[in-house]
Parts: sequence; C-alpha cells; structure tokens
Amino acid sequence: MWPWTAQTPGTVYIFHFHRPIGNLANPRAQASHYCGFTEDLDARIAEHMAGRGAKIVRAAVAQGITFEIHHWPACLAVEKLIKRRKETSVFCPTCAHAAGRLPRPLPRPIMQLELPLCEDFPAPPATRADWYEISHLRNWRAAHAVGNTDLSRIDDLI
Ligand SMILES: [Zn+2]
Repeated sequence: MWPWTAQTPGTVYIFHFHRPIGNLANPRAQASHYCGFTEDLDARIAEHMAGRGAKIVRAAVAQGITFEIHHWPACLAVEKLIKRRKETSVFCPTCAHAAGRLPRPLPRPIMQLELPLCEDFPAPPATRADWYEISHLRNWRAAHAVGNTDLSRIDDLI
C-alpha cells in the first residue's frame, strides 16, 4: 500500500543480467544486477519489460540482454540494505552457484518494536534522577502496573 514504509511487506527481487551492462572496458562502470522492491511482482516485471521501470533494466532490454529473476518475500528495508551494500552478487543465487558457494541470506533490518507506551509516560531523567523523579516514576509504575502487581522490586527497575 502506497506510501511505502520500511516495513511495507512485498517482494524484493534481483535481476541477474546474463552479461554486464555499462562500460565493458571499465569493471567499475558495469552492472550485472538490478535490485528492486514491489508489492506486485508480475506487474512490476511487465513495467520493466515495457521500459517503464529502472533505466538500467530499460537499457538491458534494449540491448537484448537477458536476465534471471530471483525474488523473496521481504520488506522495503531489505531492498535498501541490499542496495546500500553495493554488492548485490553476494545475495544472487545465480552468482553463488557459479562460484560454488551458497548465496548469503538477505540482510535483516533492525526494526523498532512497538512499545506499549501511553501518552502520559514520564520522560526519563536527563541526568541522575532526584528523589522527586524517582518517586514520580514509582507512582506512575504503580498506577499502571498490569498483572504482576508485586511492586517489591520496583526500585530495582528505576
Ligand atoms: Zn548474479
């Protein structure tokens, strides 16, 4: 669903070009892969093939370069991590097979877990807590204690 967030579920795909594209005289100016993210892989591949996707794929198609498609269910953050690494071949099953190794597992993004915070959660003390802040936190926790109402160790937590 648009707009995407880092956690948007979908498909991360890698196109493995059967020959490099770019400046064939300069290995640093070539690409052998394209990595992308989509919520609808079939529609996205159709866009790529029609020239409405990434420029590099459009150029590859125009030059008659064929490619293999690898895809995994993953969120947008995974695509960002693959692209940031600038070494897509380590995740490409075709390249791994050619090199006689296993493809590296996809990177796992660090996600912020949703915490059961409420709006009146007291801000943590910016410096060493004084007696007022400690008692304020103690009172807040006592007022919001759910289930385990044993507050004998509450001072250990503050
Ligand atoms: Zn590859």
